[in-house]
Order: sequence, then structure tokens, then C-alpha cells
Amino acid sequence: MLERLRSIVQKVNAARDLQSALDIIVHQVRLALDTQVCSVYLLDKDINAHVLMASDGLKKESVGHVSLEAGEGLVGLVAKHAEPINLQDASLHPNFHYLKDTGEENYHSFLGVPIIHHRSVLGVLVVQHEERRRFDESEEAFLITLSAQLSGVIAHAEATGAVEGVSPSGHKTSDTVFPGVSGSSGAAIGEAVVVFPHADLSQIPQRGTRDIEGEIEFFNSCLELVRQDMRSLHAKLSGQVAEEELQLFDVYVRMLDDAALGNEIVERIRMGYWAQGSLAYVANEHVRAFEEMDDPYLSERAIDIKDLCARILFYLQEKVVVETEYADNTILISEEITPSMLAEVPESKLKGLVSVKGSGNSHVAILARTMGIPTVMGALDLPYTQLHGKEIIIDGYKGEVITNPSDQIRTRFLETIQEQNQLDKGLEGLKDLPCETADHHRVHLWVNTGLMTDVIRSLDQGAEGIGLFRTEVPFLLAERFPSEEEQYQIYREQLEAFAPKLVTMRTLDIGGDKSLPYFPIEEANPFLGWRGIRVTLDHPEIFTAQIHAMLRASVGLDNLQIMLPMISNVNEVTSALQLIKREYRELIQEGVKVKFPPVGVMIELPAAVYQTRALAKLVDFISVGSNDLTQYLLAVDRNNPRVANLYSAFHPAVLSALQQVVNAAQAEGKHVSICGEMAGDPGAAILLMAMGYDVLSMNAASLLKVKSVLRNITLAVAEELLENVMQLDDAQMVRSAVDLALYNAGVDRLLRSSRTN
Ligand code: PEP
Ligand code: MG
Repeated sequence: MLERLRSIVQKVNAARDLQSALDIIVHQVRLALDTQVCSVYLLDKDINAHVLMASDGLKKESVGHVSLEAGEGLVGLVAKHAEPINLQDASLHPNFHYLKDTGEENYHSFLGVPIIHHRSVLGVLVVQHEERRRFDESEEAFLITLSAQLSGVIAHAEATGAVEGVSPSGHKTSDTVFPGVSGSSGAAIGEAVVVFPHADLSQIPQRGTRDIEGEIEFFNSCLELVRQDMRSLHAKLSGQVAEEELQLFDVYVRMLDDAALGNEIVERIRMGYWAQGSLAYVANEHVRAFEEMDDPYLSERAIDIKDLCARILFYLQEKVVVETEYADNTILISEEITPSMLAEVPESKLKGLVSVKGSGNSHVAILARTMGIPTVMGALDLPYTQLHGKEIIIDGYKGEVITNPSDQIRTRFLETIQEQNQLDKGLEGLKDLPCETADHHRVHLWVNTGLMTDVIRSLDQGAEGIGLFRTEVPFLLAERFPSEEEQYQIYREQLEAFAPKLVTMRTLDIGGDKSLPYFPIEEANPFLGWRGIRVTLDHPEIFTAQIHAMLRASVGLDNLQIMLPMISNVNEVTSALQLIKREYRELIQEGVKVKFPPVGVMIELPAAVYQTRALAKLVDFISVGSNDLTQYLLAVDRNNPRVANLYSAFHPAVLSALQQVVNAAQAEGKHVSICGEMAGDPGAAILLMAMGYDVLSMNAASLLKVKSVLRNITLAVAEELLENVMQLDDAQMVRSAVDLALYNAGVDRLLRSSRTN
């Protein structure tokens, strides 16, 4: 059975579009279960009906024409309850609705299972038989398993159609919403620019070319280079490997012939597509065809095609650096946006970001928030390779991408964008005002930085200090460990720009999702593995070079603070302190006039929450990393979009941990700040202030928003709100209570999470 399942799923996966996927499903399932009918009904939201999309057994003419209103018939019942229905005689069921013109009157037994993707029912898979017999348990289980496995493929195929503007049953459609999670708030309308990592055939977007003949010539020259490679490989290996294996190279050369693969690619270029996209398209077609074959030898040949095409791609990408043209209103899209992809877009042209992978607390989202770019993360179902050049809307508040926008929705979003701009202008007046509540409680707003550009932006927003300088950012952008002198320059620049305000430099926090290309860490559970202080204590040479550079950079400015990430026990702190002291003594001995900086610990792990007092005794300040703390307390990977809905800093367990940390730090008379992303959420900032946090450190783009909200509220109201929400037992209820308080305080709708538009 398992083999059968695998083979069907593989065949369906290889289908080129929704209709062929469904045709394969009905045919294969009918054979596998040896029934007389197998059909698929899909919900077409545009007409709110389940349309008979494919059938093997019912009359062909009815396919695509017959439909049941949502909730109607047995199909409607299966979809409504999201549960299978297995009947010996369907016509006896009160919900039975006879579908004229299908020929189903001949069939009695009925088994329908829902097709569910991400909790929503896409449609129903039905098998029917003449005989009056219930399908047995194993048949039912088979169909349920198959449906679960196919739902993703069907959803993807449907989505691809929606991007082209057609609903499953062929109606014209617009405003298709693809859900993700918010990476950075704000709305944007723009032109999709799809970027991709090189040398990956599956991610090459379909783009046009203006110079067809030039593109063909270029493609042919690359093809010739691959042919030469094959010949020289053949020559090099002859005598070393068996003759049959050598024949592979001849096969490759023949496949490249003008009459074969090469010709198909040229034909595609002639249709106006660029060479890389044409290659990817033709390669995928062939790979599919091979994978679909039942013969294991032949289906394995798909690998040869992939290999060969990857070689051509190598030359296509090697010879010319693809200059991506960025539209004036670029919405950058990629399977996984990297900081360097971001950096390549001229800032004035970048209006929005969409990353298919990752979630709201991935580091690229943090970067986007710092830049104030509306961002959607984890849009898993978005057929992004089809979007290049198309107009799309992103709603960074809700975390949604909208394709094929109608005039109506475009107008609504243009209004929101206008409102956004007005709000930003209004906030500018707050830059030089203190962050003080209406009843004169002073809160300090600091910023999180990574690059020098963040520093400039932060000063411009009236930041009072740097609460977190992620020193790993320059490390991530380099090609090797920056030398001590290079680090000195980077640190000096940040300290000088902010002096005399304090700058909190966190020691290198790599591991988890931040791996350096030149120092790869391969682990099964990177977030529970070699990360942050664990790496740097194991590599004291890296740690001490960094400390040395930081201390040197602070000479004469004396505005440095050092902070230790990922601390899980007191020994890590004492070991790190020893190393810091050693570097300090060395510099003093060399006659350098350096001041010993305040040292702090990040509370990011549940263990550290319970040990805050013990840790606070050893250091000068405590800073909560709520991004990781939320991840570890709730056991929710901060990068995984599938569980992003479970990730909430408003979870009562997180709030209670945050309160516990303040109490413990205060009991030791130590300053306590928070530098996780929640500090930049106006609603959360109110609660954190009420808990007693002295410093809220956030991305620069949030600073004035938080200031405006805190200046609008009193500490007394905030404390009352905190007291109330601490009684609640659910994150969503906490969020609602906070939003209500913001609403009552007259806070602009764009600063509330429950904004309605
Ligand atoms: C945190 O975990 O909250 C934090 C500030 O560190 P980072 O996001 O860099 O892991
Ligand atoms: Mg962290």
C-alpha cells in the first residue's frame, strides 16, 4: 500500500497544472481501490460551490459543468464537517442530492473524504461503486492518507491558477489572498521582483528577454561549453571507469543536441523568455516526465537531466552577472530573503518584502523592521516564481500577500498608505521630546543596531542609546572572520556616532539560524545546540579578539557596555568575565587608558529566568532577549511559519517570566532592559513599562510610534492594564485587552494590532 501511495503522490507531483494533477488523481485512485468511480470536487470560492473538477467513471461531459452549492449534497456534508462519509447506499442518505447528467444513478456505495490544507477544506475526494457495500476500513484509511498527502499539491496548483487570474473552475478571479505572517507592519503596492539564489533550477523565475537572438546565441555558447566538458570528462575518465559508465557522457552530449533538449530550450527563448528561465522550464518538464515513469531505472534518469541542466545553468550564470532591474516600486520576493539580497536593492526603490520561508522573528524580518519596510514572511503557498513583474499588494499588518488586485482593493490600500505617510509625518515632531507618560514617568527608548546605517537612522529618530548592537551582523556579511583591527574600526564607528550615549555590544551570537558561510555549523537542532556564548567560550581566540577590539574602541569615549548572549548557567558568565578581565588587564599593562565597561547578561532561556538573581549578582545589568525567550518558553521555532501562529510574546507564560525577571533584577539593585522585538510593539511597550523595565530597546522604525503611545498614556492606566492582563490565561485575550486600552487612549488605528481596514 505504501508503495502505491508513494507512486501516486510522485505522479501527481509531476503534473504540470491543476487539471492534469486532478486527472492523474482520479485515474490512479480508481485503479488502486478497484472502484468504478473516482471524482474530485473542489470548492470554487468565487461561486461558493463545489465543482466536479475531474472524474474517472462519471460522464466526461459533466466534468467542469456540474456543481453543488457549498453545504449541498453528501459532498457538501463531507466538506462542512471535514470528516469522511462512508455509505453502503448513498441514495438513502437524507443529504443525498442527485447530480443529473453525471450518470451517478448507477452507483450505490459512496466514500467521500475531505481534502484539507492548513485547516481549510479545499474539496472532496469521492469513490463510488455499483455494489451496495461499505468501503472497508483499509480503503477508507488509504483514501484519507492520500488526500492528506495531495492537499498541498492541489493547493499549490490552485494558487498558481489564481495568480494567473483564474479560479479552479476557470472563472476570472481577483484579490487572491495568500496568508503568511507579519514581518514588518505597513502596507505596500508594487511590482514583484523575484530574486533567487544562483544554481538552483527549481527557483529560477520566469522572466522575459528583450534580445531574443542575443539570448539564443548566448545559450548556444554555454551549451557548447558543456559539450566540451562532457568530452573532456569522457577522455579523462576512460580507462578509469567501466565503459558502460562512460556511455553516460555520450548520452549527455546527445541530449544536448540541437534536435533534443537544446532545441526545446531555444524554442522557449523564441517565445520571449530569458535563457535561464527557459532552461528551468524545459528541465522541469523532462524531470517530471521521467519521474512519472513506473520503471525505476527510467525514473532515476530524472537525476541525469537535473545534473546536465545544472551544468548549463552554471555557465549561464557564470558568464554574465544577472543584473536584476529593480522597478521604482519594488516588492522583493524570494524563497528565503537574505540580508545580501536586501542590500542589493536601492533603498528608495524598495517598497516591500516577501519571504516564502522564515517567520516574523527571523533575522531578516528584524532587519526589515529596522528599515521600516512592510514585510510578509512565511507565505508558504505563494507560487512566487510566477509573480515576477506582476502588480501585488502586501499587507504587513496582517501578514498577507494579495495578487491580481481589483480597483477596489487597490484604492483601499492606497488610502492606508496615505494614512501611514501622514502618521509618520506627525510622529516626526516627537523626535526631540522625552519619552514621558502623561503622569511624568520617564522611560528610556534605545535602539537595536547591526549596521552603521542603523546608527544613522537611530540618531535621526532621537534614540537615547544602543541597547543591542548585534555584532554578528558585520561577521555575517564578511567572507572570513573580521580581523581584530577591522572589528576595532566597526566598533569605534558605532561608539563614536553615539557618544556620550551608551552602546551595548553583544558578543558574537552565531549558531541557531545565524551561520557564518566561512564557519558552518551543521546540527540536527541548531537552536538547542552550539550557539552564542557556547561557541565563543569554546573558541576563546574569537571571543578575546572581539573583546580586545571593543575595549580598544571605547578608549576616550567610555560609553561601551558588553552583553553576553544565550547564557544558561553561572559558569558561562564567570568564564566570560575572566576572559574580559584578562583582556582589560593586558591593555592596561600596555598603557592603554581603557575603562572597565559594565557587563550584562541576556535572559533568553527559561533556565536564566529562574536564575536571574544569581546571574544579576555577577554582572551590572540584565537585558531580556524576548525573541528567544518566547521561542524557548513556548517551544516554537521562531523561523518556522507553520507554527508562527503559536508564537506570541503575549502568552501569559511569557508575561509572567518577564515580570519575574524584573523583580529579580530589581531585588539585586540592577538595571533591567528588554531588547527583543516586543519592546517595539506599542501595546507590549505599555505592559513592559508597567512591569518596571527601565529601558526598552527596539528597531529604529518603531521608536517614535512607541514614544507617541507612551506619551499618550499614564503609568497608572498601564499598571491597571497589566494587573488585568496578568489574570488572563490566553495570549489572544491579552492582545485584545491591550488593543482595547490603546483604542480607549485614542491611539491611531495603524498603531493597534486589531486595526480594521
Ligand atoms: C532576542 O533573542 O530577543 C534578541 C534580542 O536576540 P536575537 O533576536 O538577535 O536572537
Ligand atoms: Mg536572541
